[in-house]
Amino acid sequence: MAGETKHLSGLLPAELEDLTVRLGEKPYRGRQLFEQIHARLATSLDDVSVLPAALRQHLSAQGFSAHGLTISKIQESSDTTVKMGLSTSDGLVVESVLIPMETGAFTQCMSSQAGCALGCAFCMTGMLGWTRNLTAAEIVDQHLLALAGFPERPVKNLVFMGMGEPLLNVDEVVKAIRLLQHERGRNLSPRRITVSTAGIVPGIRRLGQEVDCLLAVSLNAPTQELRAELMPVSRRYPLDELMAALKGFPLPPRRRITFEYVLLPGVNDSPAHARDLVRLLSHIRCKVNLIPFNPFPGSRFARPSDESVDRFLELLAAKQMVATIRRSRGSDILAACGQLAGTKDDA
Ligand code: SF4
Repeated sequence: MAGETKHLSGLLPAELEDLTVRLGEKPYRGRQLFEQIHARLATSLDDVSVLPAALRQHLSAQGFSAHGLTISKIQESSDTTVKMGLSTSDGLVVESVLIPMETGAFTQCMSSQAGCALGCAFCMTGMLGWTRNLTAAEIVDQHLLALAGFPERPVKNLVFMGMGEPLLNVDEVVKAIRLLQHERGRNLSPRRITVSTAGIVPGIRRLGQEVDCLLAVSLNAPTQELRAELMPVSRRYPLDELMAALKGFPLPPRRRITFEYVLLPGVNDSPAHARDLVRLLSHIRCKVNLIPFNPFPGSRFARPSDESVDRFLELLAAKQMVATIRRSRGSDILAACGQLAGTKDDA
């Protein structure tokens, strides 16, 4: 943990108070530091002019910096989607995407790991393998740097659906959520943060116990057999165990678990699959997000036709299942779901 604590954006107000006291200052300086980084979006210690210059110099001399990431590459799509490449201090690049919503606000897709170990068959990130977990600072920095760098793109919602499996990095993801929800900082409501998991059962339990946020599950198949083929993680956490964990997830009134279902033509999109899906989810308060597959170089699946996507949706709707279609944004810059794959070469 010692390395990442050098990035001040990853420290809660109480931790910053301890730090400033250790450096011979009053605790309120720590609270000021938190507010400057999280609420006022200071991008460097030089920006934090409310702190005495001597304290800022002291922090710099000890190797502290405001953030753990720097924006190294920006790609803008014709539909106003922005994909940011963000460099870590050890030379990795992670990606985060700002996606326009119909309201004019933006949803930000957040990464939780550099690469991903889970190797889902339909995912470009999975083809890269896993390098390391991101720290809480590197997670919150994606959002703070986006707000500071793109004020004309107001981000209202965060979804942990970028690179990596958030619940295989649950300590840092939980801390990042606490930082983002802190009232002295971004003060994000639980309904504005969604953690999307491939189905890590112990992580689902911990998330439900430790923070309040929305949960999404990348399901993609209604049976264990097919799911294990598409998502190797399902061999470790089979569908029946996953559904049992989801039934135990704390769900306040009117909240639903979201199930994401990437439609792969000829693989998981038949009427029988729709029927199995309805049966599987019948006892869970949920909604289904259908995602037409976005082909990427080297992928072995095709894009489904609009008619087949509409037909699948109608089959779910006919059984009173709440379901929507998520049309891809930013596919011209490989910013769509499952297409994030920042590498060292992007730096
Ligand atoms: S879909 Fe998510 S969990 Fe699966 S390989 Fe891609 S990033 Fe990892």
